[in-house]
Amino acid sequence: MRRICVFCGSSMGSKSEYKEAAKSLGDYFVEKQIELVYGGADVGLMKVIADAVLAGGIKVTGIMPHLLIDKEVDHKGISEMITVDTMAERKELMAELSDGFIAMPGGFGTLDELSEVLTYNQLRISDKPMGLLNTGGYFDNLIKFIEDGVEAGFIRMEHRENLIIDSDIHRLVVRMNAYEPIVMKKWIEDIKVESNGSKKK
Ligand code: AMP
Repeated sequence: MRRICVFCGSSMGSKSEYKEAAKSLGDYFVEKQIELVYGGADVGLMKVIADAVLAGGIKVTGIMPHLLIDKEVDHKGISEMITVDTMAERKELMAELSDGFIAMPGGFGTLDELSEVLTYNQLRISDKPMGLLNTGGYFDNLIKFIEDGVEAGFIRMEHRENLIIDSDIHRLVVRMNAYEPIVMKKWIEDIKVESNGSKKK
């Protein structure tokens, strides 16, 4: 992966380890010469990672809708800023430009971006690796929710395995590089059968 998109908080979070993890992820990108694609903000963990990558002389591309530029949260020092009309367009372009994605601690924005990539992967609209950097166990409850979703029959085990989870940056990226998308040709057919007894519609 030459270019990775990072989804993370537009806030700093309450513990210093979140900020430290964002800085370490940025430093790791510099060490491995990986370009950063992100939301383009000059706030929160987003700013921390962008600044770390820029400090190492590596390209940072921000993608931001006009509505956020108007609120002046755009990072003025990044290598390239691409403005789009909508949040949906932003996610589309993030996906197009990147070879993989990492989500690290954040809020609803991060969750939205993470969920969209996982949904696209399960529908095979895209098949780029999605990594979850579980800093300080921040995502433990989300991981538990996903396991419960498998148990309850709403998430297929194979689709859950599309999410690569690690608390160590180096290991996470090595595992993402080795990612093979799960090929499940039949599962939508299976859902139809499950919903209509044995009759396929
Ligand atoms: P959140 O996790 O709710 O803090 O949102 C962070 C994610 O949503 C980032 O990956 C951004 O793409 C997007 N986002 C949310 N708020 C902002 C903001 N103020 N500026 C730029 N992007 C944002």
